Amino acid sequence: MSEHDHVHGDADHHDLPVAARVRRLEERLIAAGLASDEEIDAFLARLYDSASPVNGARMAARAWTDPAYRELLLSDGNAAAAGLGFTELGYQLRVVANTPQTHNVIVCTLCSCYPVSLLGPSPGWYKSFAYRSRTVREPHAVLAEFGVTLPAGVRISVWDSTSEARYMVLPVRPAGTDGMTAAELAELVTLKGLIGTALA
Ligand code: FE
Repeated sequence: MSEHDHVHGDADHHDLPVAARVRRLEERLIAAGLASDEEIDAFLARLYDSASPVNGARMAARAWTDPAYRELLLSDGNAAAAGLGFTELGYQLRVVANTPQTHNVIVCTLCSCYPVSLLGPSPGWYKSFAYRSRTVREPHAVLAEFGVTLPAGVRISVWDSTSEARYMVLPVRPAGTDGMTAAELAELVTLKGLIGTALA
């Protein structure tokens, strides 16, 4: 008997491949009459059709150019997202702003929670056990591996996402960008910048 042959209840199926676990969940939704196969497929198609880090980048650039939007973004992320047309996120969005004193980085230590609709599909490293476990324990070392070295005295805040509350980082507006429009600025914002594993 291999280690995968043991009998376990429905709640303990963590050794199944993710696709099989997802399918099991879908079958339960269908059996309960909550959704059909077609509805689930259509929802995923809609989500992935529009899910892109361009969305988060537009929000960050708008915040850099519009103080009132920045205030809304930091106090009510969902309202700020809706303001740019990203409605019904399905989770609470919390945006944390980098400052000269504090650098923020997001992680989901339990699994891989992440604002997909605003950042696009999550990178493989975000879902890796190494990133999930080490970011909380040794954030300076993890950021150094991403090529981010912060000035002495800058504090790192690590934000642990859950299925209900998901985080996005508002990077510091790069120096020398005074004359740029929000559209030009949005092109400077990277996915890593919105996660906190890059400066912008
Ligand atoms: Fe998660």
